[in-house]
Amino acid sequence: MTNVPKDIRKAIIEKIKYPELISGIWAEGPKIIIYTRNPAILLEDGDLIRNLAKEIRKRVEVRPDPDVLMDMEEAKKKILEIVPQEADITSINFDPVMGKVIIEARKPGLVIGKKGELVREITSKVRWTPEPIRTPPIESKTIKRIRNMLQTESKERRAILRRIGKLIHREPLDKTSWIRITGLGGFREVGRSAILFQTGSRRGPESRILLDCGINVAHNDPEKAYPYLNAPEVSRFDMLDAVVITHAHLDHSGFVPYLYKYGYDGPVYCTPPTRDLVTLLVMDYLEIIDKSDRGEGNPPYTKKEVKEFIKHCIPLEYGETTDITPEVRLTLHNAGHILGSAIVHLHVGEGLYNVVYTGDFKFGGTRLLESAKYQFPRVETLISESTYGGSEDIQPPRKEAEKELVRTVINTLKRGGKVLVPVMGVGRAQEVMVVLEEYARSKLLEDVTVFLDGMIWEATAIHTAYPNYMRKEIRDLIFQEGMNPFLSEIFEKVEDEERRHEVIEEKGPFVILSTSGMMTGGPVIEYFRELAIDERNTIVFVAYQAEGSLGREVQKGKDVVQIGQREGKGEYVEVKMEVKTIDGFSGHSDRRQLMGYIGKIHPRPERVIFCHGENSKCLDIASSVYKGMRLETRCPQNLETIRLK
Ligand code: ZN
Ligand code: ZN
Repeated sequence: MTNVPKDIRKAIIEKIKYPELISGIWAEGPKIIIYTRNPAILLEDGDLIRNLAKEIRKRVEVRPDPDVLMDMEEAKKKILEIVPQEADITSINFDPVMGKVIIEARKPGLVIGKKGELVREITSKVRWTPEPIRTPPIESKTIKRIRNMLQTESKERRAILRRIGKLIHREPLDKTSWIRITGLGGFREVGRSAILFQTGSRRGPESRILLDCGINVAHNDPEKAYPYLNAPEVSRFDMLDAVVITHAHLDHSGFVPYLYKYGYDGPVYCTPPTRDLVTLLVMDYLEIIDKSDRGEGNPPYTKKEVKEFIKHCIPLEYGETTDITPEVRLTLHNAGHILGSAIVHLHVGEGLYNVVYTGDFKFGGTRLLESAKYQFPRVETLISESTYGGSEDIQPPRKEAEKELVRTVINTLKRGGKVLVPVMGVGRAQEVMVVLEEYARSKLLEDVTVFLDGMIWEATAIHTAYPNYMRKEIRDLIFQEGMNPFLSEIFEKVEDEERRHEVIEEKGPFVILSTSGMMTGGPVIEYFRELAIDERNTIVFVAYQAEGSLGREVQKGKDVVQIGQREGKGEYVEVKMEVKTIDGFSGHSDRRQLMGYIGKIHPRPERVIFCHGENSKCLDIASSVYKGMRLETRCPQNLETIRLK
């Protein structure tokens, strides 16, 4: 029994010195897995697997046969026997599908041993492949839950991966001769990003890939909040081959679970931090709907579908090229926007065509992240966001923005006021935290308490679990004793509603960072309700506020705003607090950075398609790029299709 095409099996068996050691060859997701009762012998020749992968142009992995793996409880005991106590192991988790045991320790070097001696000993005794990692400084409940789930549902997950593997390695109908994209959401608007990418030949359609599947949280009306998944091209979700998620923000990921509710059973590709952050954000989204008196109708999906998303998720590291259909190869690259955010590179056919989709990106470094990647093997069409595409959308340098924020905090605190900063839990929250901590540490900002509410703390925990996704400076700080900015004493996590009320009642002065970022729900509303009336207080906007959101109304300077419903009537609040917008913190490229990126992207594309920007912004930048760079530009509407090839 196998799901791997004959020619691939043949190539593998011919190459391997001891084919009798192979107990099975399976396609699991995009990888070809060679199962064996004796991985050590099979892996003796170090280059064998690499050469094999090159020859068959697939990702190949050798895994221990599930039959030889030691019972998990026993293996745990054995590992604790082998590894010296000083390694300070904090958890041991098994991934039965991968045949891996993840050993978290405060001193992972001591788990590895001299020249990998202990790792080898563990492998030979328990047969699981050990993966020692450093214990993150803050424990994440989300990551723990995901790991537990993947462990208990491993049988089903393996079945899912084998089904996906079979589809990926199917024989294509014919060589691809046409490629098109359809905007399903997020075109000439910000929110509900979704693009359908299709390929085919004269014999019919071949690949159908959905790039992002977001929700516009600024709207309650499904007509405006959800992408056009009722378009004829996606009439049946089971016809989709794959979903690719650029990053965790809900306007890119928030509608993914819905697909599983209505028949989708395929993979979602994204980076490992994106998987964890999506899980956190969609669970928070469901909770907010549950509590909200503003929302109409039911949530579009439930926790059950979030679980399906986790089971079907195939995490990919940056730069890891992967077949996702018989004709399309996917690679994710750093986008510099939030932790784990990716620019998507799609390669179609054997050198036929290449598309780069930026998702949200920052062409410029931030406190946490490196600048977006701009060099690719090939690019014919670039699909770019254009949030700040207007010619007037120039942001001040980051340093200035930071100073402005600190000045605002100092002035407000001096007059006895409180500072409220609505932030998305992921991204701006951590950037602002790092800035406030640095100023506090250097005593330029004294005696300040920064309360963190909503899921900011949990999102921060996930950050510390993925140091490799952050820039070196912050990574070094995190692991230096006593220097981790996120663990600073100035931060206090608001644990529950009771504490929230205490904080509101407290005399202050202090700063509150709270979700949601556009004030569309979440604890920020509770703070705003109480703080808005006092002119000594300040609300500071550091991120994009979408049209239709409460944040946008406050930002525009409305004297009275509706914050929700109470007993069937609208609840209104008078805004007397100072309202301040500080540009320059954005995780998006501003106009100059957008132009800079398009000018610099290598190689030069033939065409640029703009999305993720309000109507005027898309048109503005499209016309400038056309005039200034002599590139074909397009700004399609939602539901419009563009043929690329
Ligand atoms: Zn985003
Ligand atoms: Zn976005």
